[in-house]
Amino acid sequence: MSDDPIDRSGLRPAFWETVPLKRMTQREWEALCDGCGRCCLNKLEDAETGEVALTRVACRLLDGESCRCAQYPIRHQFVPECIRLTAATIEQHAYWLPRTCAYKRLWEGRGLPDWHPLLTGTAESVHEVGVSVRGWTIPEFEVDEDDWEDHIIEEQ
Ligand code: SF4
Ligand code: SF4
Repeated sequence: MSDDPIDRSGLRPAFWETVPLKRMTQREWEALCDGCGRCCLNKLEDAETGEVALTRVACRLLDGESCRCAQYPIRHQFVPECIRLTAATIEQHAYWLPRTCAYKRLWEGRGLPDWHPLLTGTAESVHEVGVSVRGWTIPEFEVDEDDWEDHIIEEQ
């Protein structure tokens, strides 16, 4: 699994099926992330209905090829509003997380999809099935915020 920036080795077998989110170790929690980059897309939220639409306009720090944050450890210096997702905060964030997000899936009791790196053994599987944002995002500094609605994407 050398291509995987997340260390998913040595974890309890199928912990995502048996351990509740709040009881996972920090490494298990981190290993749930599929690396899709979708949570780093800008969203539009309807003030009246509360509906959330994802756009392909990405946070300025997202690397559109690796689908990773370019400055993750110090990201709040540049993007103070970036959230820290934990088992304690997922309830307040689940409504806007992408449908495919592993944290949201487990929180909703849907389990992991068969393309998840924990099941395939490779971080490439999220890109191969087209769930990741690789290759189709636009940096937010290239699009006026008033035009984001022209870039709404269909969720899978
Ligand atoms: S949407 Fe979820 S699974 Fe995908 S990168 Fe974000 S936290 Fe990880
Ligand atoms: S700061 Fe980094 S982790 Fe946060 S939304 Fe932007 S790219 Fe994603």
